[in-house]
Amino acid sequence: MHKDEIICTIQGVSKLYRVKKGFFSAKTMEIQALDNVSLKVRRQEILGLVGESGCGKSTLARLILGLEKPSAGKINFEGIDLSALKGDHLKRFRKKVQMVFQDPFSSLNPKKTIFQIISQPLRIHGICPRSELRREVRRLLEMAGLHNPGIENRYPHEFSGGQRQRIGIARALATRPDLVVMDEPTSALDVSIQAQIINLILDLQESRNITCLFISHDLPIVEFVSHRVAVMYKGAIVEIMPKERFGLVQKGLDTPHHPYTDFLMKSVPVPTPEASMCGTGQTDHDLEEPFEVKSSRWDNLSGCKFYPRCPHATQKCKDEKPLPVEISQGHTIFCHLFTPSDKELGTNEV
Ligand code: SF4
Repeated sequence: MHKDEIICTIQGVSKLYRVKKGFFSAKTMEIQALDNVSLKVRRQEILGLVGESGCGKSTLARLILGLEKPSAGKINFEGIDLSALKGDHLKRFRKKVQMVFQDPFSSLNPKKTIFQIISQPLRIHGICPRSELRREVRRLLEMAGLHNPGIENRYPHEFSGGQRQRIGIARALATRPDLVVMDEPTSALDVSIQAQIINLILDLQESRNITCLFISHDLPIVEFVSHRVAVMYKGAIVEIMPKERFGLVQKGLDTPHHPYTDFLMKSVPVPTPEASMCGTGQTDHDLEEPFEVKSSRWDNLSGCKFYPRCPHATQKCKDEKPLPVEISQGHTIFCHLFTPSDKELGTNEV
């Protein structure tokens, strides 16, 4: 892995959406999906991105793919500002950055054969001559673990969920991309199929040297596939760490980490003897106080966004945004609990 080469830089990116206050209301309000996010994706790494639903993970993915524009800040891909891309430059960018979708059932056009689906990006980007299309589609399908002859002539409804996700991966890799954004690629699949898809992703990452942004709320899977893990909360990165550190935190071994990361880890269902008898999972937070805050008025806090839910909160947390603190190599936390002898970065770049 080229550890130091940065393929994508996200600099101070914010995204605001203007929505109607009510169904019959003409008044609008702003919702902040991303708040001053800065992140660097290194070439040939798998960067895991975790956080609860609605924290801004998929919004960040859409901005990196160039499907939407940031309200503030900028995103550079291989040194080029995405907002400046037009015409042929934009087409070249689309070839280099691809996406694997969450739902393998709705992400494939049911009216088209697998050959039509996978050959489309090959034709659009002129990747191989027309006479070679069929052979290239077969090669991509085999690379994704689909070996049956004539499989490319079938329609999506003839495949299982796992097979469809393999087809989605084959389509994403057709343009030989440098960066693949995977948004919950296994969450719609059975557990045994999840393992096959994860092994496929790891094999392909190693053999084709692709860079991945792997978005998921499944923490054990993220630890298994990623080289680094970033934790998001309410549109902001709160912690980023190497996978080894993330593994220690997950196993409950005593390592310093952000209170929200702690909350996220404890929310993972842990089977207990009682739970297995009645067929349900139970989490540490079922046993402790669940401090959920529904009100959106907390979104406009001038300080730490986790303040209303944090058991360690102080007045300083309410008033001041925490700056990033690198507590060990590659492990950065945005929290006032960490104001140390450790090196303070002074910016929010991680
Ligand atoms: Fe909790 Fe304060 Fe840290 Fe935010 S800055 S996570 S409120 S201790």
